[in-house]
Amino acid sequence: MKQAFKYRVYPTKTEEQWLFSELRHQKQLQNYMLQMRSQMWAYGSVSVSMYDQINHLKKLRESNTHYSKHPQDMQVSTIKRVNAAHEHFQRRCKEGAEKKGYPRYKSSVRSLTWELRKYKVKNERVRQNPIRETGKRHNMLKVPKLGEVKIRQHRPLIGDPKEVTLKKTARGWYCFIVCEVPDTMPCIPKSACGVDVGTHDFLTTSTGEKVPNPRFYRQAEHKLVKLHRDLSRKQYRSKRWYKAKDALAKQADIVACQRLDFIAKTAYKLFHHNGFDAVVAEKLKPSNMVKNRYLAKSISDASWGMFFDWCDWVAKRDGKHFHQVPPHHTSQTCSECCQKSKTKLKLSQRVFHCKSCGLKLDRDHNAAINILNRAACVLRGEVWNTILYETRNQLLQLACWG
Ligand SMILES: [Zn+2]
Repeated sequence: MKQAFKYRVYPTKTEEQWLFSELRHQKQLQNYMLQMRSQMWAYGSVSVSMYDQINHLKKLRESNTHYSKHPQDMQVSTIKRVNAAHEHFQRRCKEGAEKKGYPRYKSSVRSLTWELRKYKVKNERVRQNPIRETGKRHNMLKVPKLGEVKIRQHRPLIGDPKEVTLKKTARGWYCFIVCEVPDTMPCIPKSACGVDVGTHDFLTTSTGEKVPNPRFYRQAEHKLVKLHRDLSRKQYRSKRWYKAKDALAKQADIVACQRLDFIAKTAYKLFHHNGFDAVVAEKLKPSNMVKNRYLAKSISDASWGMFFDWCDWVAKRDGKHFHQVPPHHTSQTCSECCQKSKTKLKLSQRVFHCKSCGLKLDRDHNAAINILNRAACVLRGEVWNTILYETRNQLLQLACWG
């Protein structure tokens, strides 16, 4: 299993200049390699493979100092990136997708990637460690051809480092170190919970706990509106325009980071603090739901898709279970007698009232129990099926008594 570790990088001014020039070079190389592919195809239907391009790069490096002064590992990674984009394009063509999406020429790239090479230590091939520990506040990241750059290593690396990416964001430089981590065996679950996500509360579990929706975008909206207005009043591509653009990008980055932090922590807490071994959620399609123009902003702000991805990832990493079930009619059905009510609940109606058995329950809580029930039906034959049924029966008793 692969796991990425993200650290803040603090380059000096000269180092930053070098990094910017490197970004420009990688962009040119990427466009050049893409052009080569498309022109060869246009002239004689010749397809160029990744290895052809790597060999071509070798010849270029021998004859031209413009290429040889830049790190080879980064150039190879750029060629691999072009190849990956092409492979995705070919896959979409085969699938007969409506938008084929031929790889585009880039006006800028924001990240530098390089693979770590293996070298021999006592008859064993080991990858080099990209970080040198100094024993002080900052450690040093080894960058090919540049030297060492300060990083703040707030937590240790785990596993075998394979690849490093340096990325420029609106608020500074970051490095991502991808490591190969040993797989965790999935545990035998002892407790399960259903999760209903919404815009009113971010999530409600089948035990009735709620996590309020932080609405980071809504909170920062007035700031963003002001910054957008400032930008639109500046002369296009003037110094002040670039300044305003940076300020806007920084604020947008803050919102994105807040959201990521909240979602990652919520997913972790669900498995570890609440102690659930299996979590079940709906299989929503936020891209379709966003088409509702009254709710689009709130749905995008909640970013459920990202939350489900994180739940899946945390479950895989820590040996837990995460499953998604079809979402149809979970909020209309009674969790006790399974009767579906004929009318659809409005978003403002927060309490579900069953007409056949008289159950009165919070609408999200009711939906969360339904999701858990559905998982128990869908996953017949799975090991943790009985756990789901047990949890469901306990919840039904709770619903009956209270
Ligand atoms: Zn009922």
